[in-house]
This record gives sequence, structure tokens and C-alpha cells, in this order.
Amino acid sequence: MSLGVSPIPKKYCNFSCVYCQIGRTDHMTDKREDFFPVENIIDEFKEYIKENDDYHVVTVVGEGEPTLYKSLGKLIAELKKLTSKPIAVITNGANLGDKSVREDLMECDLLLPSLDAFDEASFKALHRPHGRVKFLKSYEGLVELSQKFKGELWIEVMLIEGINTSEEALIKLKALLDKVKYTKVYINAPVRPPAEGNIVVPPKESIERAVNILGGFSIDTLTTGKFSSGIVDNYEGILSIIKRHPMNQFEIEAFLKDRNCSEDEIKNIFNILKEDVTVEIIEYKGFYTYRGLI
Ligand code: SF4
Repeated sequence: MSLGVSPIPKKYCNFSCVYCQIGRTDHMTDKREDFFPVENIIDEFKEYIKENDDYHVVTVVGEGEPTLYKSLGKLIAELKKLTSKPIAVITNGANLGDKSVREDLMECDLLLPSLDAFDEASFKALHRPHGRVKFLKSYEGLVELSQKFKGELWIEVMLIEGINTSEEALIKLKALLDKVKYTKVYINAPVRPPAEGNIVVPPKESIERAVNILGGFSIDTLTTGKFSSGIVDNYEGILSIIKRHPMNQFEIEAFLKDRNCSEDEIKNIFNILKEDVTVEIIEYKGFYTYRGLI
């Protein structure tokens, strides 16, 4: 159970990944800013943990890229004063070439950076980065950080068929990974509707090839998550989750059943979602996924 702390507004990112599950980036930026005062985030966190202790890890994550938050180091330090649970940060890795970002991340317990690309061309094809973000600088920053980092480093590799799934591509990725001092590698594939409809989800053989060459393990089968919300109202609870993280119909159903909703109540909520103009419903992989638009 992860308690998410998001220090950035929706879709402020230095990437616009073709596979992004929250759509195309409409606030492309490489400027680090204090979008919200640290004190406000910490107050909200304090309020939450007064009543709840049901989480195992605090995850700094965004509906965009969390290292764009300028006071990230201070935020991590303040969170650590308030909880003994591990603090994790999920990052796209783009900013790791920046020394101040690496310093900010040093105090987290668990760092989950992405490494999907193996050269500048595949970097551009996968992430459509901000003009000032360069593959080599980000990668070298990851290598440098990994040498000094005291916590666990879990690397995620997102596979997109035709871009980073060939044997040649995976061998190049493996050579890059070998220079990084990491704890685990996760092989992932898009399981939710991606930003671009034309991207190809890798077939089982490609995922197996990646697992064999990179030596990681696949989380493709583990990605149906269990969701919870501190919001009492069931519908508002769903809206608050799907504006950050899309949920498929089964996840919504499980969320509502966990809250002891009857079949009729569940049906009613799906009907309201269907009419809600702030919710996008996408048919993908044979079922419906719900995404909050605002
Ligand atoms: S997947 Fe992450 S890094 Fe890529 S565009 Fe979406 S929010 Fe940004």
C-alpha cells in the first residue's frame, strides 16, 4: 500500500512519452519550480497520517515528473521526520544529469527511475523529451547517482514493440544497465491506454526476450492494482484516483466492493461515470478504462 504524495500539478513534465497513461503532456517544461509550498504538502500529509496508518511506503510521484519540484530534497527530509516508513520517489530519470536533482534524491530510501531508451534516437521516439533534455546526460547522471546512492534502486524498463524490443536494442540496454549499480530491474509493458493509439504493446515473446537479456522480471501480470482512498464518498473517491491514475472497470468494481457497495450501487456509479463529462472512457485490451480529465 503506497501513500502517494504529488508535488506537481497535472501533466507538468519534461517528457511526453508515447505510452503515457495520462495522455500527452500539455505543460512541457524543464524548469524546476515550487508549484506548491512544501509546508502545505506537509500539512496535508500530517492531516492524513493522524487518522491513517494503512500504508507501507510513502511515494513521491506525480501526474508528471516529480523531480521538477524544486524543493524535492526538503520535501523528502520533512516527510522523513514524520514517518518511519520508507520514502520512495518514482522518476522518469530525465533530470538525473542535474547535480541538484541527484543531491535531492540522495535521502530517499527507494528510487525508481526509468531506463527505456538505449540511444538518443530511441530516447526521442519513446519520450519526445523537452528540447534541453538529452539522453546521454540523463543516463550518465543515473550512473553517477547509483554509485553514491545508499537506498534501493529499482529500474523500470517500459517496452514498446518496434522501438526497444529487438535483440539488438535489448543488448544495448543491457550494456547500459551494466554500468548502473541497481537493486532490481522491472520489465514493464503498457497495460492502460497510452497517449498514442498507434503504439504496439509487446507480445509475450518480446517480454520474455527482455527478461532473458536484461535479467529483470516482468510486472506485466502484476499491474492490476488495489486502490483505496481516504475520501468517504465513493464517487468522489473514484474521481480523485482516476485523475491521477486511470482505473479499469474491474479495478473500480473491486474498489467499490471493498467499500461494501451493493451490485445496484456499483451499477449506478458506472452509469454516472458514463455521463460524467470530466471522465474519459477508453476501450482498450477488451475492457474499459476510466481516466479523469480534470
Ligand atoms: S509517462 Fe511519466 S514521464 Fe512520460 S510523459 Fe507521462 S508523466 Fe511524463
